[in-house]
Amino acid sequence: MASADLMKLYQLHRIDVGILEVRKKAAALEAGKKLQAELQTFTNHVKGVETAFHKIHGEQKDLELSNQQIDDKIKSINNLLFGGKVTSPKEVEAYEHQIKGLQAQKSTNEDRLVSVWDEVAKSDGELKAAQKDLKAKTDSFEDWKKRAMTFKAQLEADYKTLTAKRPAAAQGINPTLLATYDAIRQRHGGIGVSLVTKQQTCEECGTKVADKSIESIKDDRTVTCEECHRILYWTGGLV
Ligand SMILES: [Zn+2]
Repeated sequence: MASADLMKLYQLHRIDVGILEVRKKAAALEAGKKLQAELQTFTNHVKGVETAFHKIHGEQKDLELSNQQIDDKIKSINNLLFGGKVTSPKEVEAYEHQIKGLQAQKSTNEDRLVSVWDEVAKSDGELKAAQKDLKAKTDSFEDWKKRAMTFKAQLEADYKTLTAKRPAAAQGINPTLLATYDAIRQRHGGIGVSLVTKQQTCEECGTKVADKSIESIKDDRTVTCEECHRILYWTGGLV
């Protein structure tokens, strides 16, 4: 079995591992920034689709208005021609020429309108699909954010509890052992102690722990793993 000092150190190690886990989980929440950036990019894309729709829809409205104005103009010229007020052949010819010109313009407008209607229908479909996607993405992000906030609050509470426990857990541990532990922890990803498993391997790196190391542990000596250099904690094969 481990010495009393090592048992205390193991307790401290458990707290430190807990703090490390909390930090890792908190760092994972940073993924939210990426999700937010992706949502912003998609929002900009939808804005672009919206602008394209308004442009082509605007053209459709302009062409339809232009045709309406042409119809009104032709109607008013016909009223003049058939109202009996215009009698001069030259004037009649001029009006007829004007009507021809207006009809030609209307025909050009109509040709363009055929493709514009197609484009409007296509653009409208794209916009509706993009807006639907945006809503789904926004809802999903908002849901993630809500859950992340709750989880973050939990992590903060856990962090507070663990850090409050730490000074008492560190108290009474041999200062040399504590300094060794802290130095190892700093060099090896925050983990300074590793359990010797039932199979007599280092739990952190899986390396076989030599019998002579177990003997040294039994003699209350501080033994580190040959491979990962962490302080070995032996429960006497209990776990
Ligand atoms: Zn190891």
